[in-house]
Amino acid sequence: MSPDKRKTKRQRGSSLTAQPPPRAANRIFYAVAEGAVTEYDYLTMLQNAFSEQCSFRIDMPRSRPDDMKPWRVAERVLAVAEEDARRPEGEQYAEIWALFDRDRHRDVAEALDALDGHSKVRVAFSNPSFDFWLYLHYALHDVPQDGWNHQIHQLLAQSPGFLGFGAKDKRITKARADNLLPRIKMTCDHARSLDKRCRSGKCAHRRGTKPDCGPLDQDPSTGMWRLLESLGIA
Ligand SMILES: [Zn+2]
Repeated sequence: MSPDKRKTKRQRGSSLTAQPPPRAANRIFYAVAEGAVTEYDYLTMLQNAFSEQCSFRIDMPRSRPDDMKPWRVAERVLAVAEEDARRPEGEQYAEIWALFDRDRHRDVAEALDALDGHSKVRVAFSNPSFDFWLYLHYALHDVPQDGWNHQIHQLLAQSPGFLGFGAKDKRITKARADNLLPRIKMTCDHARSLDKRCRSGKCAHRRGTKPDCGPLDQDPSTGMWRLLESLGIA
């Protein structure tokens, strides 16, 4: 392959490069995600596009093992929160976020319980997965997935900009970011409306006899809009 071709290939298929965040951001966030690539690429996209305007910075772990289980994400977040509490108030994080998925994980409830009640810790939980949040950029989809991700994956892989998205191609490239960014406000509306359906008892999934849907019942759903709201984006 010629050097030129190699360069083009690299540009087409590589994750976004983080641009320098604003020097004096009003609020500094920390986020730990379950996946090693897609979520962090997405956060980099948000930072590149909105950090100046909304005055935030998102710190992320340097070491990003693939396929962290929810309890590993929770552990990481709690360790960061503990360290953060020892710093002087002016140097502390505004919020510390855990991003994880329902998928077929068994320890989600445990992870949610462990994170509950910490004042700065917040959770963006997606059911069945973060890819559902990505798919909401293209359509409001309210069909229960029972913890499986393959249908959402298929739908996403047919969406503009995400052709070929899958196990070996989980990056958010410049082209994908350009496709996602103009849709962000609508995506938050989609995710909020699913939440609202649950609160008003009009959700599509089984409700059983419980009066309210807990986060594990909400299928499909994603709490990513809460993070974007907190960042001041939408
Ligand atoms: Zn519901």
